Amino acid sequence: MLQVLIVDDSATVLKIIRHVSGRLTHLKPVFASSFEQAKQLYLSAPDQYFAALSDYSLPDSPNGELIDFLLEQGLPTVVLSGSFNEKNQGELILKGVVDYVLKEGRYSYELAMDLLNQLYQNRNVKVLVAEDSRSARKYIVGQLNRHLYQVIEAENGAIALQALRDDPEIKLLITDYQMPEMDGYQLVQTIRHEMATRRLSILGLSSADNVIVSSKFIKNGADDFLHKPFSVEEFQCRVSHNLNTLSMLEELEKAAYQDYLTEIPNRRFFIERARELYEQAESKQTQLAVAVMDIDKFKLFNDQHGHEAGDAVLKHFAQILKRCLGKFVFGRTGGEEFSVAMAGLSNDQAYQLLDAFRNQIADSHCDYNGQQLTITVSIGVTNDLSEHLEGQLHHADELLYNAKEAGRNLVVGD
Ligand code: GH3
Ligand code: MG
Ligand code: MG
Ligand code: MG
Repeated sequence: MLQVLIVDDSATVLKIIRHVSGRLTHLKPVFASSFEQAKQLYLSAPDQYFAALSDYSLPDSPNGELIDFLLEQGLPTVVLSGSFNEKNQGELILKGVVDYVLKEGRYSYELAMDLLNQLYQNRNVKVLVAEDSRSARKYIVGQLNRHLYQVIEAENGAIALQALRDDPEIKLLITDYQMPEMDGYQLVQTIRHEMATRRLSILGLSSADNVIVSSKFIKNGADDFLHKPFSVEEFQCRVSHNLNTLSMLEELEKAAYQDYLTEIPNRRFFIERARELYEQAESKQTQLAVAVMDIDKFKLFNDQHGHEAGDAVLKHFAQILKRCLGKFVFGRTGGEEFSVAMAGLSNDQAYQLLDAFRNQIADSHCDYNGQQLTITVSIGVTNDLSEHLEGQLHHADELLYNAKEAGRNLVVGD
């Protein structure tokens, strides 16, 4: 685990930070109370340090000498201080520190931990900068690098568009207005048209002497804009604000498509994806096997072992389903009911895979409070497309009923 070097000469401050450092998600805190101690710790294992959170002045570093040392080492540094004025803050940012936090009680230390976590996550976030002016582009890229984002550069809108098509992981586009080949408006319009469902945040840049540019950017589909020239801090705030909004949206979307208990896709997800497969199979006249599975005598299981044990078994079942059939479209479609849609497989091929899965379930044990719990599953699978997906699911359900009638722990195909 990478480490964060945390330096402050006040024992009280270190004590509070130690207390809130549990908030650090992927980083281990290492504490020092003087410049000398911090330097020794760092130099003994420089590769193990990811970042530093440091007091501005210490008895053996009254004028920010420690900060200079950390920056010389190339260590991303967040400054902690009780006595800042605006001039100091501006100088620190110019020097290259990531950010500064005022010592204003527990809340501000929590904020500092969040900042370090954010910095750690930023390394996985891709940002595209479309700007034709080389100097402006270098400036923006420099600011983004300071916060450890992965930065991709484009010198006009056409190159930026191609970069977006090539890399679906880009989360934020920062774009200038006037550029050769394709300008900022055209770029934003094209993206919103061509990639309508893509989650991408767009920050437009416009010169302060042209106010219309900003509103036009927003009307064309940008999420935010910034007048040039802008302050480093304003820029950083807009970038992180837009990325945070995007990641909240992604979380919501994930929650809407995930089953809360088993953490596999839910009914909504299954139906939407299966419908796509159904339409392809119908239009191209290809195979689609749809299976409905239902755990046997689960009501009795709950009565015997309790509802919590039942929940544990459902999770256990979902894990095996994901492992065995996770490459297909699958989901928890009801209480103890699960479904799988297998494109391109004949009914016989699907039957073989499902029967192997049924066997795995029957042979497996779910460890619950020292007990080894077992269950079985019955499955119906059909390749009869019927008139619509619902019809095919209904038919699979009928075959499932046959499996139950025939004694359970069985797969019945067409
Ligand atoms: P069969 O073999 O015919 O399918 O019998 P069954 O008892 O499984 O069928 P039935 O539909 O009568 O009962 C389903 C049971 O599944 C009843 C319900 O309490 C249980 N169940 C549904 N959702 C959950 C859940 O989220 N957790 C737990 N523990 N039980 C659930
Ligand atoms: Mg330009
Ligand atoms: Mg049932
Ligand atoms: Mg059942």
